Amino acid sequence: MLDIKLEDIKTLFTEEQLQSKIKELAEELNKLYSGEEVYAICVLKGAVMFAMDLVKSLDMPLKIEFIRLSSYGTGRNTTGKVNAVDISLPDLNDKNVLIIEDIIDTGLTAKFLMDFIACNFKTKSTKFCSLLDKKISRKTEIEPDYYGFHVDDKFVVGYGLDYEGYYRNLKFIGYVE
Ligand code: 5GP
Repeated sequence: MLDIKLEDIKTLFTEEQLQSKIKELAEELNKLYSGEEVYAICVLKGAVMFAMDLVKSLDMPLKIEFIRLSSYGTGRNTTGKVNAVDISLPDLNDKNVLIIEDIIDTGLTAKFLMDFIACNFKTKSTKFCSLLDKKISRKTEIEPDYYGFHVDDKFVVGYGLDYEGYYRNLKFIGYVE
């Protein structure tokens, strides 16, 4: 049963803050990839809202792929092990690859994915863009090339991020104590 109620969720980033930050990130990426094609890779399920809003503001020729990784068990704790639920990707050799994530926490998921791409393809470039950066929990040397907001050691939900599968549909990002 769902033990966190909507009224227990405190707002951290409003819909307006999220959308304005996404526009800023898109501007930077439009400059970076000016005249180039991009392969965007959305990491399901958490990054879906962010990725869909971000790509709408990108103006270069772009293809989108979806992969599914998981490291969180149930509840609020990472298992510390990354599972590739579905990581079938097209040929990324010589492509500009932009990985789009919801949050970088320990960095294990990001590292797994960057290593997977580096081992299997010789890309033209690989960049990692995460909406949130929970730097305090990092267990790897990985840093996102682009991120929207820093978050403290809080468990956040909404705008794609879930608690036991719930609350991905919130337009804002909130936290629970
Ligand atoms: P990492 O591998 O960097 O530890 O974690 C990455 C994944 O853990 C994210 O893609 C996300 O699905 C999940 N995650 C990490 N922190 C949080 C959080 O505060 N809230 C939610 N809902 N998921 C999180």
